[in-house]
This record gives sequence, C-alpha cells and structure tokens, in this order.
Amino acid sequence: MVTLLLLGFHPLWRARLPATFLQRQVRDSLLPAPESRAHDCSLSTACSLCGSHSYSVLYPEKLGPAAIDGYVFSARQQPDRLHYRVVKCRKCGLVFSNPILSLSEIQRRYSGSTFTYEAEVPSLKDTYGRYLGRYMSYAPKSESLLEIGCGNGFFLEVALDLGFKNVCGVEPSYQAIAAASSRVRAVIRNEMFDPDSFGLTRFDVICFFQTVEHVSDPNQLLNGCHRLLRDRGLVLCIAHNVEAFPARVLGERSPIIDVQHTHLFGKTTLRRIFEKNGFDVIDVFDVHNLFSLKYLLHMAPLPTSLKPRLANLLRTSGIGDWRIRLSVGNIGIAALKGDLPT
Ligand SMILES: [Zn+2]
Repeated sequence: MVTLLLLGFHPLWRARLPATFLQRQVRDSLLPAPESRAHDCSLSTACSLCGSHSYSVLYPEKLGPAAIDGYVFSARQQPDRLHYRVVKCRKCGLVFSNPILSLSEIQRRYSGSTFTYEAEVPSLKDTYGRYLGRYMSYAPKSESLLEIGCGNGFFLEVALDLGFKNVCGVEPSYQAIAAASSRVRAVIRNEMFDPDSFGLTRFDVICFFQTVEHVSDPNQLLNGCHRLLRDRGLVLCIAHNVEAFPARVLGERSPIIDVQHTHLFGKTTLRRIFEKNGFDVIDVFDVHNLFSLKYLLHMAPLPTSLKPRLANLLRTSGIGDWRIRLSVGNIGIAALKGDLPT
C-alpha cells in the first residue's frame, strides 16, 4: 500500500527571487477562491508518542484566511504567530497541534510553498555538515545518503563533499528544486516522502533537518526511515526544542509556535519516539547553529515597526553578514537502525 507521508518540509523553499507572473499564477492556482478560504481544521489527532487522547490546551487556535497561503507554509518565513490549537499530552508531555487541516490540504500547501532563505545556506551547510561529520562513522558504511525535505539540495552537496557516492533527496516544493544546483538537481525527487517508491533501494544514512516537527505522523516518517536504512544504518535529525529556554520564555510568541509545526519535541520525547520506532539512540544533543546577524533579526520576536530600522542599521554598518554560533533552541538526535519493538 502506498503511504504518502507529509514530509519534506525543509526550510529551503523560499528563494530570494521576486515572484514572477508565472510564479504568482502557479501559487494562486493552488489556492481556493477567496470566498472559500476559511480554514477547516477537521483532523483530530491523538498523541503520536503514547496514543493518549488526554491533553491540556497550551494555546488556543489562532488562524485566519492567510494561514492557508503557500507562503505561510514556507520555512523560515517571518514569524506570523499563526498556529493551530497547540496541546500537550497529559500522559507523556508531547506537544502537538490538534485539530489540524486535512492531510490533502496540508500537502497541497507545501507543494506550492516558496523558498526564501537562500542567503542562510552557507550557515546551514556548516551546521548540518558538522553534525554529519561527527556521527557518520557510526554507520557501517557511508556511501549512500537520503535527505528527506532537502529543499534546494544544498546538504546533498555537503554529503558529496564528505565522500558519499550516492545521494538522493525528497522535496515537495517545485520552487525549491528549481533553485538546486546542477550538481544535485537530478537526484532530487519532487514528491512527498513515500518509502514504497524506493523499491529495494537502501541507504547507509538518512537525514532530515527541521522536518520532523512538520509531519502529521512522525511514526510514519520514522517507520519509513527504518525500512529504507541498511542494517545498523544511521539516522540524523535536527529539530526545534520546545523545552529550550527561548521557547519557554517566549511561550506563544516563540517562532516555533507556528501553523507548520504539528509536533514539537523536547529531548525526552524525541528520544522516545525514535526508540518506539526501532532505533537505538546514540546521542541527543543541543545544536549550535551558525547564524548571520540579519537572519537573527529576521526571526526575532520584535515589533514589526522596529525591524526595518534595525535591518537598515545592519545593512549600512555592513555587519548584517557577520556570523555567530549560537544554541538557540534546536536539538539533534543520532540513532542507529535497531530491532522493531515487538
Ligand atoms: Zn502522549
């Protein structure tokens, strides 16, 4: 049975390109008529970790007609503070959105999402490449790698530079793939992640960055990875940490409380969902990202009236491109394919 997973929502599908007439036409064609744009969150979700239906409401739903736009479902966008109702499982503590849009509606919006953080690619290459370099030796071999939600494929180039011979990416956004380099474009599949579509192909390493929080069912994602990995193959994942200091201080104002994030993990819940799906966890760690000052300003929860002035200050002073390494609330997990729980 073909199982479509709502994956691949990697933060790379908003190219810094002015929207051409064609792009606008394509995007607008993905949207319903204005009068029917009211959202319909019809899909109730149980806890993906423990299956419980008992939860407490952290933040009531905050959506509007704009929430269905492809831009809202684009990664690393300006935080817009739109979100589903966010709840916390009373039994295990997993934070998730409930209810959410139907899976077909979410898939349609991600397919039309845009790609705008090209300027951050050098920093992301540095960050993700460092962690792959740290953990890749745990896999029996490091020849083949799959990235789920690869955006424009920048990390696939990092993997090639680290010595991987066969790389493959999955990415639902056509616009992100259009921005891929000729070195990797041909190995990126423009589709939602579907493990059945890989036939007998297996990988030594599977990576996904800032993707697991976007999926409607993280168990499907991890089960698919388990199937596609060679014996004792490595999975490397980086995600937002809902228990990190900035998220706790900012609460609903945190940029991670977002309509795109159907699940938010802490270190314990991330470890447990990997173990539930047959992975032996090597490490759960704080991620130190390399950020430019202008990107930090872009994502900062500051008044919108203040941001343009500060952005202009960074631009005129020439320090907007200065990069610093910070731990601002991302966690990573490295795990090996083990035995599925009985
Ligand atoms: Zn639970």
